Amino acid sequence: MDSGEKRKVRVVIVGGGTAGWMTAAGLAGLLPAACEVTLIESEAIGIVGVGEATLPHLRLYLERLGIDEAEFMAATEATYKLGIEFRDFARIGDRYIHPFGTYGRPLSGVAFHHYWLRRAQAGAVPPIGAFSAGVVAAERRRFERPGSDPSDPTTSFGYAYQFDATRFAPFLRDWSEARGVTRIEGRIVSADRQGDTVTAVTLDDGRRVEGDLFVDCSGFRSLLLGEALAEPWEDWSHWLPCDRAVAVPCTSPPDTIEPFTRATAMSAGWRWRIPLRHRVGNGYVYASGHISDDEAAAALLAALNGQPLADPRMLRFRAGRRRRSWAGNVVAVGLASGFLEPLESTSIYLVQAAITSLIEHFPDSRVADADRDGFNAAIDAEYDRIRDFLILHYHATERTDSTFWNHVRTMTVPDTLADKLALWRSSAQVAKYGHGLFLEPSWVAVYLGQRVLPTGWDPRADRPDAAGLDRALGSLAQAIADRVDAMPSHDRALGL
Ligand SMILES: Cc1cc2nc3c(=O)[nH]c(=O)nc-3n(C[C@H](O)[C@H](O)[C@H](O)COP(=O)(O)OP(=O)(O)OC[C@H]3O[C@@H](n4cnc5c(N)ncnc54)[C@H](O)[C@@H]3O)c2cc1C
Repeated sequence: MDSGEKRKVRVVIVGGGTAGWMTAAGLAGLLPAACEVTLIESEAIGIVGVGEATLPHLRLYLERLGIDEAEFMAATEATYKLGIEFRDFARIGDRYIHPFGTYGRPLSGVAFHHYWLRRAQAGAVPPIGAFSAGVVAAERRRFERPGSDPSDPTTSFGYAYQFDATRFAPFLRDWSEARGVTRIEGRIVSADRQGDTVTAVTLDDGRRVEGDLFVDCSGFRSLLLGEALAEPWEDWSHWLPCDRAVAVPCTSPPDTIEPFTRATAMSAGWRWRIPLRHRVGNGYVYASGHISDDEAAAALLAALNGQPLADPRMLRFRAGRRRRSWAGNVVAVGLASGFLEPLESTSIYLVQAAITSLIEHFPDSRVADADRDGFNAAIDAEYDRIRDFLILHYHATERTDSTFWNHVRTMTVPDTLADKLALWRSSAQVAKYGHGLFLEPSWVAVYLGQRVLPTGWDPRADRPDAAGLDRALGSLAQAIADRVDAMPSHDRALGL
């Protein structure tokens, strides 16, 4: 039977937040012949809608769907993002930028940071950020699109967006409905199941919606995977104790809009600052065992550098994930599958990773075990690596000024992170994996930014003579600085 004769898979997406509409658009745009998509959402329940900072992978999502960048940016009041600035994490007064992109370029097959470490130890070179065009552009508030030669360190960097999350789902909704996605407004009150197969969901007005494959995008409620199928929850709050956030937007300051997100460590967590075109998003992510809600809200309001535009909004969550993201014929995407705090802006990336993996393993009307296992292995790896990377930001600290920092500094960490730290400390090597988050330059940025200094480096980095190496590094830093100075300001790049 050729594919033209196959019955389309009936996909029912439960939830219309960022995860729901990104999934709907992905399936409608990329698999129009394989499935028919229905999305059910409840305006009365609403969406989380605070995810404002993203990773460069989102560009690929938009490109694959043929969504015009300028149209998307205008619809969501987006700005460009070159990385995240971390303040006060290892010590109060510290500051570093974790950029998208690499540092310098490899020499004789050895990563740049090994040469840098050798000369930095001798006090002969500027901070490693001087060798990243992304860092220098962020610090100088400049932006232009990266050059086409990825091996040219003066023009090669990555970028993402900071956008108004409440506008992204409606933008994708219009796009998806124009491509045949059916939207149903209503509240789901129950799910029919046979074993671990969901056959239909029922709405509060009695309507019943049947499907072959259900994508649970119902947010923290996890209506199908968590409630109907009772997939167990793996709790990571020992390592990631932040369990609440208070969020408030404020007016933009009069100076240039920053092309980066800022994360500032606080006494019981950290505070985000995300500049958009029309306002600044702010929030304090905190551990309720170490600070009260009122104290957290007061600390956030005191730190704003603009006028609040709304009352503070409280959110509660738990760090962890469902043991499997795909069980039976239910695939959870977004908050319904798990949550890792937004310190590295990874949630929307995880949504995208799940959509990509679902498309790669897209079932016929019957789900094959191999596809489900392949999907779960891919998503587990993503979650576990991001978890370790986030824990590093907390654990690698010298702060002793609060019960929160004392806990995270002295806690045991997962073996997988302990192994990575040991490898870095002894030889400046970063555990390698082929794809997914986070790759070598990100680990280098955060290890160094958090003051985790290795005792050694790749011995091949000792080969070039010191004076020649210093000259080469000096001219590279200068070439990056000159190139960045020729870029327009971020405001001009935004057309403001
Ligand atoms: C404090 C905080 C900050 C964050 N910051 C970032 C960030 O900077 N970057 C980032 O990438 N991510 C961030 N995130 C995560 C991001 O907000 C989410 O990953 C993203 O919005 C996806 O959410 P969702 O669609 O899974 O869930 P939701 O937005 O909660 O959507 C759930 C949907 O399910 C529907 N629904 C629920 N129950 C029912 C029912 N019974 N019947 C019908 N419909 C129902 C709701 O109506 C809604 O449409 C942040 C999250 C939090 C909590």
